[in-house]
Amino acid sequence: MLSTYLKRGIEKCLLVANIQCRAISGAGKRCWKCNSSDVNNTFFCASCGVIRESIKDEDYFELLKLKKEFNIDAVKLVQNYRHIQSMIHPDKFAQKSEHEKTIALEWSSLVNKAYNTLSKSIERGKYLLMLNGVSISEENTSVDKEFLLKMMDVNESVEDAETKNELEGIASDVSTDVELLNSQLIAHFEANDVESAKETIVRLKYMINIEGNIKEKLLKLQLMS
Ligand SMILES: [Zn+2]
Repeated sequence: MLSTYLKRGIEKCLLVANIQCRAISGAGKRCWKCNSSDVNNTFFCASCGVIRESIKDEDYFELLKLKKEFNIDAVKLVQNYRHIQSMIHPDKFAQKSEHEKTIALEWSSLVNKAYNTLSKSIERGKYLLMLNGVSISEENTSVDKEFLLKMMDVNESVEDAETKNELEGIASDVSTDVELLNSQLIAHFEANDVESAKETIVRLKYMINIEGNIKEKLLKLQLMS
C-alpha cells in the first residue's frame, strides 16, 4: 500500500534537474519588448532576454517539455517542473517592472496548473482526450453493470469494515485494481483507442473515490481508538 503510494506520489521525487528549456511554444508570437520573432525559447526572449508573455492556449505537455503521450516520464515531469518554476518564480522578478512581475505570476500559475493536471493519471488522461476533441463525463460514458455492482460491493465492505486490518486488506485489493486500470489506460492510449480510454478513466475515478473513502474511514478509526 505504502510503496504504491510512493510510486505514484511522484511529487516526492527529489532529483535535481539539469535540463535545457527550449521548445517551440507560443509560436508566432513576437517579443513584447524588442519585437523579435525568435520563438525558440518558451519563457525568455532569445534576443533581449526578457521574460516572454504567456499565451492562453499553452499546451501543458509542451510547457513542461514532455512528449505528448499518456505514459509520461514521471521523474522528468517533476524535474522539468522544478527547473521551470525556479526560472520563472515571481520572487526572481522583485526588481523588475510591474509588467514583468505580472507575466512571471501568470507563467507560474500556468505551470502549476499544467503540473497538477499532468501529474495525476485521471487528469492527464482527460486532458489528452480533450486535446483529441473528446470530452468526458460520467453520464455519457457507459460502464458495464458488472463493474458497477462490484463497486457497490467494495463500497459496502468499506462501510462494514470495523478494523484497520480489514480496511487495509480492501485497500490493497483496490490498489491492485488501480494499477491494472492504469496499465490498461496506457495501452488504450498507445493504441489510440479513445473510447476504451474514456471508459477506463471513468472506472479509475470510481476506484480513486473508494481509496478516498478508505482513507477517511481509517482516519475515523484512528480517532476513535
Ligand atoms: Zn526580446
